Amino acid sequence: MSHGTAIDLYESVTRPVKRKVPVKLTNARPRSADDIAAILTNQGKFPSPVRPTGSGSSITRCNDTATGTKVDMTALDRVLGQTSNTVTVQAGIRLRDLAEHLAHDNLELVGDCSDPNRTVGGAISSGALGGGLPGDGSQLASSVCHVTLINGLGKRVEVGENLPDLLLLARMSYGLLGIVYSATLHIRPIRSYTIRNTKVDFDEFVRLLPNLMEVNAAVKVSLMPFRDRAYIEIRYPEEVERRAAALPWKLRDWAANSAVPKVIRSVNKVVPVKNLRDPLIDTLTEASHALSNKLVGSGSNSAEQTGSFKKLVLDEETGSCTWLFSISNLASVIPAFHKFCERHYRSSGYRCDLPAEARRVDQDQYALLSPSFDGPLFALTIRSTNTEGWDDFLLEFAEFAVHFKGIPLFNQTKGVKPRYAVTAYGDRLQRFRDIRKRLDPDNRLLSQFFVEHLG
Ligand SMILES: Cc1cc2nc3c(=O)[nH]c(=O)nc-3n(C[C@H](O)[C@H](O)[C@H](O)COP(=O)(O)OP(=O)(O)OC[C@H]3O[C@@H](n4cnc5c(N)ncnc54)[C@H](O)[C@@H]3O)c2cc1C
Repeated sequence: MSHGTAIDLYESVTRPVKRKVPVKLTNARPRSADDIAAILTNQGKFPSPVRPTGSGSSITRCNDTATGTKVDMTALDRVLGQTSNTVTVQAGIRLRDLAEHLAHDNLELVGDCSDPNRTVGGAISSGALGGGLPGDGSQLASSVCHVTLINGLGKRVEVGENLPDLLLLARMSYGLLGIVYSATLHIRPIRSYTIRNTKVDFDEFVRLLPNLMEVNAAVKVSLMPFRDRAYIEIRYPEEVERRAAALPWKLRDWAANSAVPKVIRSVNKVVPVKNLRDPLIDTLTEASHALSNKLVGSGSNSAEQTGSFKKLVLDEETGSCTWLFSISNLASVIPAFHKFCERHYRSSGYRCDLPAEARRVDQDQYALLSPSFDGPLFALTIRSTNTEGWDDFLLEFAEFAVHFKGIPLFNQTKGVKPRYAVTAYGDRLQRFRDIRKRLDPDNRLLSQFFVEHLG
């Protein structure tokens, strides 16, 4: 989704006054590493802060700025080289284009990402939760073994596995240490998985949690609090490779990312009575789940990334917000979330009209700002097409999350109060901040959003 005008929720609530003076924003679209260096060294023409943008799908202002310079990276979209187990690309290439390129050789990216429209540069510089197959790393950034950065002083910096401490910082660095010109990622032969689906109520889901957190598979669960249903999807890695058919994945992509949100938004508009409308929306959602489960019984990272329609990007008006919680808290968080949704609906009449998603996020120490650096987590993502009341819901959900010591992502979590990240990320954020200052002493890349959140 394009977020050119995205405003951080907390800021919009605490500072609702609109600016009266027109703000000046400079746009740049580099075509080479030298172009990026020229932008960063010419402060007169390209004022600070300089913010790189990939596909712009982040839901916060991490990729955006009201003043300064926005650097659109999408013209840098070439594959620069390949070995049997790595691929080197320019940062603006879309994940889908890279996945298609690799699929010709029966290869795939190690980390999976459900939205293939995003760029490699944006996905490895931010939180991009993978499919969760054991051993794959929880974020796409985990598979990065080399990056070429142009730092705030316009200098080219090569960061490879021979500089492990710097690579740890460069992965998931949100464009704060420099602009990624190119990246080398680990790749592998396409690895298949089998999908098993099951439907249970919330109580049963909570009972199953210890097994689900241990199973040697990826776990994703769609939660429908008002139907008391949890749709569990488990992806078991397979020993043998089986090429999954593309059409079912395309249909699933179309249903989940376009058709269902559009139908639900229409129902919201044409059926004003909530006692009729909301059960109808749940029935439609359950039907689409049943269809998706029938369509797709096996897959691979490659099948998911290439099996999507090129022109179909994530439904623009669907809101989403992710918080991560410790696995040890899960048995408390899930029932509390169920009650929270019901209570909010009773008191305000508002509910999210798309199912929430919970997924297992294994421990990942490949990036200093990895949310699961200290241990395994699960991500809880709320989604809705219903914008009336969404902002209030997000603020209350943030309070709920803070109560359970939730960890935010700088690109996917709204409603985070300034400095809360300091509590959530602790010493690691302090270390990141100190090194950032050294690499970008003139604060060329530091936007107001990060001033507030890095502390
Ligand atoms: C409806 C919806 C659903 C989503 N679902 C998921 C999901 O299931 N899983 C998930 O993980 N995410 C999800 N997201 C979030 C989003 O897709 C991620 O934030 C994504 O990783 C960002 O990729 P991008 O190319 O759009 O980067 P952008 O949003 O453009 O940028 C992300 C960050 O990286 C920086 N950046 C971009 N390019 C560069 C570069 N070349 N060098 C240095 N820094 C750079 C930006 O400044 C910014 O800080 C969803 C978003 C939406 C709107």
